[in-house]
Order: sequence, then C-alpha cells, then structure tokens
Amino acid sequence: KKQRSFSSLSPITSSISRFVSTLILGEHEGGQLKQSSLCAVAAAGAISADNSISLLLAGSGPSLQQAASHAASIHPSISQVLVADSDKLSHPLAEPWAELVRLVQQKGRYSHIIAASSSFGKNTLPRAAALLDVSPITDVIEISGPQLFVRPIYAGNALSTVRYTGVDPCLLTIRSTSFPVPHISSDSKSDAAPVSQVDLSTFSEDILDKSRYLKLTSQDTERPDLGSARIVVTGGRGLKSAENFKLMEKLAEKLGAAVGATRAAVDAGFVPNELQVGQTGKIVAPELYMAFGVSGAIQHLAGMRDSKVIVAVNKDADSPIFQVADYGLVADLFDVIPELLEKLPEK
Ligand code: FAD
Repeated sequence: KKQRSFSSLSPITSSISRFVSTLILGEHEGGQLKQSSLCAVAAAGAISADNSISLLLAGSGPSLQQAASHAASIHPSISQVLVADSDKLSHPLAEPWAELVRLVQQKGRYSHIIAASSSFGKNTLPRAAALLDVSPITDVIEISGPQLFVRPIYAGNALSTVRYTGVDPCLLTIRSTSFPVPHISSDSKSDAAPVSQVDLSTFSEDILDKSRYLKLTSQDTERPDLGSARIVVTGGRGLKSAENFKLMEKLAEKLGAAVGATRAAVDAGFVPNELQVGQTGKIVAPELYMAFGVSGAIQHLAGMRDSKVIVAVNKDADSPIFQVADYGLVADLFDVIPELLEKLPEK
C-alpha cells in the first residue's frame, strides 16, 4: 500500500532520495570483513559518488572488534562503522539481525540498505524489508542510478532493468561477483573511519525465540573458498563416482583451485552440496573455470557464465558447454586429467 509511482513521488520523498546514504550489512569471519561485504562497499559507491556509507557489524568478542578495525580501514569509502556488540547477536541469525537493521534504520534513516547475495544476505534482507514495510530488490548485478538496477532473470538468460518506486529505504542484495573488491590502503591506521557502538537498549527480545543457533559444520580445508577462488575446477556426472571425483581434488591441489560440482554430481552423492555451482548453488566468476564431464545445462551456466576464461572437456562435441567455452576439448576426461596431473608442475 505504500508503493507509489516514480512520477508521483512527493517533494519530501524526492528530497530524501536525493541525499544518498547507505547502510551495508557487513559479514565477518576471523576478525576480517568478508570479501562479499567488500564488494557491497563497491556497489554502494556505484549508487552515487557522494554516498555516505555506514557499515554495520554485529557479534561479540574480540573478533568483532578486529573486524570493525578492518572495516574502518576501508576509509574513505566507508564514512562510519557501526558495531552491535551483544551475546544476542553472537551468531549471524537472520531474525535478530533483521530486528537490528530495523533499529539502526529508525535512527539513521538511510536511503539504501545493501547486503551481499550470500546465504546470510538472502536470509536476512527480506526479513528486514518486511519489518520496514518495503519490497527488496534482489541479486543486483549493475547499478545505473540511485533507483535503477539491473538483475538477471530466467536463470541468467535475460537481464531486467528495474526502477525502485517505493519509499526509503531501498533494500538491495548484490551479486558480489559483479562488483570489484575495493582497494584497502596499507596506511589505514592514520585515516580510519570512526567506529561507534549501536545502542541496543530498545532491541526487541521477542525476536530471539524465533530461531536458535545449534552448531556450525564446515569443511576444514586448505583450499580457497569456492565463491572467491581465482581458479575453479568443476566435475559433473561424467566423473561417474565419488572415487573418481578425487581426480578433481588432485587437480585443484596442483592449480591452487577450488573444487565445484554440478547438481547432478551432488545428487549422485559424489560430493556434498556446498560444492554445487549454479542457479540453486553458488555463483562464481573466477579468472579460470575448468569444467570436466559437465553438459552445460542453463541452470549450471547461471552460476559460472561470468567466469573470465572457461575451459571445457567433454566427450560429446554437441554438449552445450562448448557454446560458452573459450577453450573446448572433445575428449575423455579420464585421459585428459591424468595427463594434466602428470604435466603440471608440482606446487
Ligand atoms: P549431465 O547433463 O548428465 O552431463 C554429463 C556430461 O558428461 C555429458 O555432457 C557427457 O557427454 C559428459 N561425459 C560423460 N562421460 C564423460 C567422459 N568420460 N569424459 C568427458 N565427458 C564425459 N545444475 C547445476 O549444475 N547447478 C544448479 O544450481 C542447478 N540448479 C537446478 C535448478 C532447477 C530448478 C533444475 C530443474 C535443475 C537444476 N540443475 C542444476 C540441474 C541441471 O538441469 C542439470 O541436470 C545438471 O547441471 C547436469 O549436470 P551434469 O552436466 O553433471 O550432468
């Protein structure tokens, strides 16, 4: 009921929209801001050159304070870092985070709120939008103006340009692979952005009953993270078994790459589903993407077509993967991978 057409914006709303100020929902790990949140900073910069950017971090303990110092060092891109330090927020659960965003928005009256399209962002931002009574715009890949955004539709086969015509704030999730990681200056200490604590005295405790943190299960691996790796080697159903999939791991080790998989490989039980690349998996855009025994279904392409260089090995010359590949080899992967392993130098 609050939606209005762009042309009928009242003078007060349009004057608020002209002053662009953005709140970023920051994710952190091990005392560092995650790369996807750095990309959100780049996206905020694309909204307007004179955007005043605040970055919100939540959690508890020393790693939160370290992450705050790291975020503050992104000055001058970031004008202030807001820290919500509380046991209630020690785990990134969507429900308390959404309430936190509502609270911070009440005071800050931001024109835009941005989160990365990570599991956290996709879970939290729509809840915050519901509390603020606005409609979010998700999966933005390009920002053409304060109210004009481009987002993929039909599994990335078409791009839709959308204009936000609602009231402030405009809530966005952004695809981090579409926004470059900003440079962080090395002499950060001298001109760090101010860090202030969020007043949580009016934080609604009711929300805390809605979800409970149980445990974190994560792969303890030395390999780069799939979402941000420079090289990704992906195996499909053509690998035929979990045992054969170890070939991909060996290749990844030699190349310093992350391992990816198609949904068919995940469904067949070759690898866990956190390795899935595609429409319903991770979106990646590495410098080099190597696909072995992958047919190239549109749902898979949706997750990797923005990679800089795509190499495909498939024994079927008519496989659709060859339509997006920069280099294609029609061959049996069980001949190609052992040869690659033999010829690639030791790390
Ligand atoms: P296949 O299509 O079976 O292809 C196997 C390929 O291996 C073939 O091209 C074959 O020629 C080749 N091959 C076989 N043996 C060899 C060999 N020895 N050497 C070389 N090549 C060989 N899929 C995803 O990947 N990610 C998603 O996120 C995703 N989301 C989906 C969401 C929805 C709603 C739906 C409906 C589907 C989704 N899918 C997704 C599934 C997708 O449609 C395909 O089924 C899947 O990507 C196929 O995986 P594949 O290429 O491994 O298997």
